[in-house]
Amino acid sequence: MLPIRSNIKAMRPYSPGKPVEEVQRELGLTEIVKLASNENPLGPSPMAIKAVQEAALGMNVYPDASAFKLKQAIAAKFNVQADQVLVGNGSDELIHLLGLIFLNGPEDEIIVGDPSFVRYDASAQIAAAKLTKIPLDATLTHDLAAMADAVTPATRMIWVANPNNPTGTLVRRAEFERFLARVPEDIVIVLDEAYAEFAATEADYPSSLDYLDTGRVVGLRTFSKAYGLAGLRVGYGFAPAVIVDAIDRAREPFNVNALAQAGAIAALQDDDFIRRTIAMNAKGRDRLWDAFLSVGAKPVETYANFICADMGVPAEPLFEALLREGIIVRSGHVLGLPTYLRVSIGNSAEIDKFIVALTGVCAQV
Ligand SMILES: *Cc1c(COP(=O)(O)O)cnc(C)c1O
Repeated sequence: MLPIRSNIKAMRPYSPGKPVEEVQRELGLTEIVKLASNENPLGPSPMAIKAVQEAALGMNVYPDASAFKLKQAIAAKFNVQADQVLVGNGSDELIHLLGLIFLNGPEDEIIVGDPSFVRYDASAQIAAAKLTKIPLDATLTHDLAAMADAVTPATRMIWVANPNNPTGTLVRRAEFERFLARVPEDIVIVLDEAYAEFAATEADYPSSLDYLDTGRVVGLRTFSKAYGLAGLRVGYGFAPAVIVDAIDRAREPFNVNALAQAGAIAALQDDDFIRRTIAMNAKGRDRLWDAFLSVGAKPVETYANFICADMGVPAEPLFEALLREGIIVRSGHVLGLPTYLRVSIGNSAEIDKFIVALTGVCAQV
């Protein structure tokens, strides 16, 4: 038998949202609406498209291994030092790298919310570390008090997605600061802020930037959601310089490719694109909220670019029925919420189609 590590064999591969082409092939449909991966329905920023096209002319040359210009641009925008900036091949890679530098076997433990983003689990499983999952509270929000209660001498990291994926719920400043005060100082707290742009309108949003000085809070962000660059793969983050230094030792030298660096720098300047994205998302969110109520479902108050709703019945058959109508959403079945659907907030035409399909499908059950 090949010596594949048993903890790796025990892992399940990541299951992404169903690809459009696969649904077209399997169901013989031509028109598909995909509301499953929280992508930006406006497309990429036009400024990013132009920058990537220009960068393509130079792609015979290796990228800048230190991503100097991208880190400078991020540091300037968020008013941090460039040596406090992380960049990666999507924030997925940064999650992986954080696990790599802090975890080494079953003597090390991470604490995560349940359900929350599944890549935190993977970072522990790869390291054969202990994974402790703390259920969300009754409002499907991270139960920070219970997470602090769960700390043991083995705990190395606590992961908080804020807003949370898949629920869209938000932890607020007062709760976060109570939590921070209770958690021992040698434990790393990661705030995964993949949807920060959509939540930043909340006055008491506890941005990781405000806690960088504690020396143990890491913030993760991404160009994949509000910035519309999911296919380019750029994530970034804020961390104490010692953590950035450790990651620099462990990472691949060219982990953010040249096109990605160029596209991300340009996207960062396109404030108008982010404004339009947030405005469109807010409108779509309100329409989907009403649509779920009108079919008797219970939507969850969301601060992200997706919305979760309790359908009151197993959601898998609804997911399958929507698929036959050409609508791809996420079934709560795979997200640890079997009666829920998670729907990305699309553009108005996509939402129109989703509402028609949802109404039809719910009328049948
Ligand atoms: C989408 C998402 C990510 C990953 O984003 P990439 O930068 O595309 O790798 C990380 N965390 C959460 C909570 C997400 O929803």
